[in-house]
Amino acid sequence: MRDLLRRLLRQRKAAVGGSILLGFIVLALIGPWLVMDPTELVGRPHQPPSSAHWFGTTGQGQDVLAQTVVGARETLAIGFAVGALVTLLGALIGVTSGYLGRRVDDVLTLTTNVFLVIPGLPLAIVLGAYLPSGPFRMVVVLSLAGWAWNARVFRAEAMALRNRDFVSAAFVAGESRSRIVVRELLPNMASLLGSSFIGNTLYAVGAQVGLEFLGLGDVGAVTWGTNLYWAGNDAALLTRSWWVFVPTGVCIALVGFSLTLLSSAIDEVTNPALKAPLVATTAVRSARSSSADAAPPSGALLSFRDVCIEYATERGPARVVDSVSFDIAPGEVFGLAGESGSGKSTLGYALLRLLPPAASITQGRILLNGTDVTALDETALRAYRWSQVSMVFQSAMSALNPVLTLGDQFHDTLAAHGRTTRAAAHARARELLAMVGLAPQLVGAWPHQLSGGMRQRVGIALALALEPKLVVMDEPTTALDVVVQKELLQRVLELKQRLGFAVLFITHDLPLLLALSDRVGVLQGGKLVELDTAERLRTDARHPYTRLLLSSFPHLSAADAQVPADVTRASSERAPPQAAAQGGGR
Ligand code: ADP
Ligand code: MG
Repeated sequence: MRDLLRRLLRQRKAAVGGSILLGFIVLALIGPWLVMDPTELVGRPHQPPSSAHWFGTTGQGQDVLAQTVVGARETLAIGFAVGALVTLLGALIGVTSGYLGRRVDDVLTLTTNVFLVIPGLPLAIVLGAYLPSGPFRMVVVLSLAGWAWNARVFRAEAMALRNRDFVSAAFVAGESRSRIVVRELLPNMASLLGSSFIGNTLYAVGAQVGLEFLGLGDVGAVTWGTNLYWAGNDAALLTRSWWVFVPTGVCIALVGFSLTLLSSAIDEVTNPALKAPLVATTAVRSARSSSADAAPPSGALLSFRDVCIEYATERGPARVVDSVSFDIAPGEVFGLAGESGSGKSTLGYALLRLLPPAASITQGRILLNGTDVTALDETALRAYRWSQVSMVFQSAMSALNPVLTLGDQFHDTLAAHGRTTRAAAHARARELLAMVGLAPQLVGAWPHQLSGGMRQRVGIALALALEPKLVVMDEPTTALDVVVQKELLQRVLELKQRLGFAVLFITHDLPLLLALSDRVGVLQGGKLVELDTAERLRTDARHPYTRLLLSSFPHLSAADAQVPADVTRASSERAPPQAAAQGGGR
């Protein structure tokens, strides 16, 4: 929370919104002592602004300035009180409901829904008949009418957090459920609490002014809403006495504006992705034409030619891929190694033309069978992606759509690339599932019913659905344990031999790469520092960075490395990797 405040202080929207709001809070606190009694009759009605009454007089002959200033106090007090109450009530009920689930959730959700469909206005009128008139009544009415929306939002947030490891850890450690709600869940919603509070205050000010304007508040009190009510009643509009309602109207608008600014500032500070994205401006490249060197080097399926990729950042362009060139032959497993941040994924995304707007390929070309991938238009891209080059993503969980069965995800993928019926797509899905070693019946399963390894197999099956020539695998096994990882890779290599696709395998795990790739490139800070056959790298890595990478995986035994390697090279005449592989790196 403190961190949130500190970041907010540095934000322009927050600064403007905060200053305006602070100004009104100060006015509400000390203003009433500086002006005359707002109910006192001080002059003739509907007098325009004068030196005696700067904002003129009302239809009753009261001072408009005094009414505007004094009105701020109760209006803002009720606004903040309702904002806080509604937020707390909504958060407690929503989080309890979302976290506990089952029967509690049923009851609370039903209650929430009932409150959601009760319209606020009749509720206010009915409650008004029973509760004593005054600010208290307004707070009760607005809180009752407003908490349910918040409960819905917080319930959703709690359900998302419920399965996170730190919540499970607290539960296993023996924390009580109520304590988990208060100590684990709510503090993790600091930004949501903050923006909800601001949003609810905005709602409270608006609803309160509306109700009071209709005469449903305490018409004897001095608030911005009753000011407008009396302005209406005293026919200020008919007599064109604009000074009676304009000051109050401007105040309401300014408070609303400041709260909106604050709310948007909180969103931006807590979610950097909402900031206006940086868009690369250097996207136009020069070296696109000359068809002479567009031809692939003999036998290459894919060629990266002198590729540079830059990200637009606040501090200017940052080059994260620097003049990278390499080829991949049909059916080859090409490994791309390098520490985290070395630009591996950026290269993979560039190949699929999935780079974020901030990134641009500033130089070089990516040729697939001689076609420059970087020059494809949208139509060509749709035909190219997935049917020519597909991808297995690192996080199988987020790569699968949680609300679609596996069969339907295959259907979506297949249907995007040609006509297919659901039945035909499901039949193909069964085939593909069996291919990656999963039971075909899983076609009707949901992603959450699968283990991590199973999900990643589904990811591979999806990637192979259109029989692409090349599959990019970006850390496909990093989230899996060693045994599952080995099984999966073995399966990929088997499939590769059967179907003949090439693989661009990306991982930071160099020993693993050496065990399963034909050739390996090593990226360091966006530069390809070494490129050689796996064979040679294993025994004879020249670049110090490659040696460093090799030695940073001391846990990998020769046997571990060997299993997938046996599959790759079952038909090759090259010697299987020996323990020497380890010796070369240390
Ligand atoms: P790797 O996959 O090797 O871990 P990435 O290709 O994801 O590395 O990232 C390479 C570099 O690009 C990193 O230094 C990262 O900080 C930078 N980068 C990635 N995405 C962005 C972005 N949206 N804006 C600016 N820089 C980025
Ligand atoms: Mg990566």
